[in-house]
Amino acid sequence: MQRQVVILGSTGSIGCSTLDVLAQHPQRFSVFALTAGRQIDKLFAQCLQAKPLYAAVLEANDAQLLQQKLRDAGSATQVLYGAQAFADLAAHPNTDIVMAAIVGAAGLLPTLAAVQQGKTVLLANKEALVMSGELFINAVKQHQATLLPIDSEHNAIFQCLPAALQGGCYQSDLQKAGIAKILLTGSGGPFRQTPLAEFDAITPAQAVAHPNWSMGRKISVDSATMMNKGLEFIEARWLFNCTADDIQVVIHPQSIIHSMVQYSDGSVLAQLGNPDMRTPIAHALAFPDRIASNVKALNFFEVADFTFSKPDADRYPCLQLAIDACRHGQGATTALNAANEIAVEAFLNGQIRFTDIARLNARALSRFASHSAKTLDDILALDQESRLYAETELGSLS
Ligand code: NDP
Repeated sequence: MQRQVVILGSTGSIGCSTLDVLAQHPQRFSVFALTAGRQIDKLFAQCLQAKPLYAAVLEANDAQLLQQKLRDAGSATQVLYGAQAFADLAAHPNTDIVMAAIVGAAGLLPTLAAVQQGKTVLLANKEALVMSGELFINAVKQHQATLLPIDSEHNAIFQCLPAALQGGCYQSDLQKAGIAKILLTGSGGPFRQTPLAEFDAITPAQAVAHPNWSMGRKISVDSATMMNKGLEFIEARWLFNCTADDIQVVIHPQSIIHSMVQYSDGSVLAQLGNPDMRTPIAHALAFPDRIASNVKALNFFEVADFTFSKPDADRYPCLQLAIDACRHGQGATTALNAANEIAVEAFLNGQIRFTDIARLNARALSRFASHSAKTLDDILALDQESRLYAETELGSLS
C-alpha cells in the first residue's frame, strides 16, 4: 500500500531532494501535502508535478494567489495557509510519513504535531531538537512515533548502530551495546584553510559556497562557522541518548565518510557514500528496506585520499559554544540556537561580519546559559527572549 507523505519545507534543498526520491517510487509513496514559506512559483510547479491533496504557505495572500493559479491549471490541490495549517497537515489522520525540512525554529511546532500523532518523522530540521531535546524525545516515546534522522551524519550513525538499537536509538544504552564513541565527521566548510586574518572580510556569497554539499543558505553559513556541527553535536546527544563525552567531532574534508561508531573491541563502523542528501532521504523513507535514490555509486578508484584532523577552536569558535551549551542544558541550547538564527540572517543581509556571528552567539550563551526551559511555553519564551537580546546586541557589533 502507498504511504502518504507530507513534506514540511518542500521548496527547500531537502524538500526538493525528497520530491526527487519520491518521484522514483510512485508505487510506494504518494504525496499527501506540501508546505512552503514564500516561494509560491516553486510550490506551484511542485503541485503540478506531485499532485498533493493539500498545499500550505505562510501568508493568506500567497495562498489565494496559488489557489487561483492551480485552479486555472486544472489542479485539484487545496491550498491552506499559516503555521496551524502546517501542524494540521503533519498531524492529519491520513498522513503516514512527515519529512520535517523547514529551516530553523519555525519547524518545531509542526514537527511536534506529527510526533504527537505517532507519525513516522524524518527529521532534517535539527533546530527543533536543539531547541526542545528532552521534551521532543519524551513526546516521541509517549506517542510511539518513529523518529528517523535525515542529517547525513546522524543517518550514518544510525546505520552503524546494532540493528536492535535502531528502532529506539533515542533510548539506547550505548555502553551496554559496546559502543565507545560516536565519531561525528564534518568537512570543515569552505574556510578550513583560509588565513584567520581574512575572516573578517568573508562575504555571504563566499560563505554559502560549500565545497561538497549543495544546501540552503542558513545551513551553508552554519557549515562555514561549524555551528552546524555544533547543532549536530546537540542533535546527536538527544537522538542517541548519550552525553557530550560520548561524541567526538572529526574533520574529514572529503565528506565521503558521513560519520562513524567506535566499538569497545576496537572496531569502527563507518557509513560512506557520495555527498548527496538523497541517500539518507531514501534510507529513511524506506527503512528498514532499501530503495534506489539515483545517487551516483561511490567509485573508490576516483575518490581522493581520506584525511582526518581535530577541529581548530580558533577557527571554529561556534562549534565550542555549541558543545558548551550542550553541557549546560536545555536553556543554553535553546538560547544559542535562537541567537544564531538572528546572527546568520544579519550576516546574510550584510549587517554584521562573519566573525560577529560567533561574538553574538557567545554573548547570548553567557547571558542565558543557566536559564532552564522545561515546558513548551518556557522554550518558546526563551527562544523569543534570546532573539530579542541578539537583535538588540547587533548594533553594538560593528
Ligand atoms: P532551505 O532554506 O533550502 O529550505 C527551507 C524550507 O523551509 C523552505 O521550503 C522554506 O520555504 C521553508 N520555510 C522557511 N521559513 C519558514 C517558515 N517560517 N515557515 C514555514 N516554512 C518555512 O533549507 P534546507 O533544505 O537546506 O534545510 C532544511 C532543514 O534541514 C534545516 O533545518 C537544515 O539544518 C536541515 N538539513 C539540511 C541539509 C541540506 O543538505 N540542505 C542537510 C541536513 C540537514 P520558502 O523557501 O518557500 O520560503
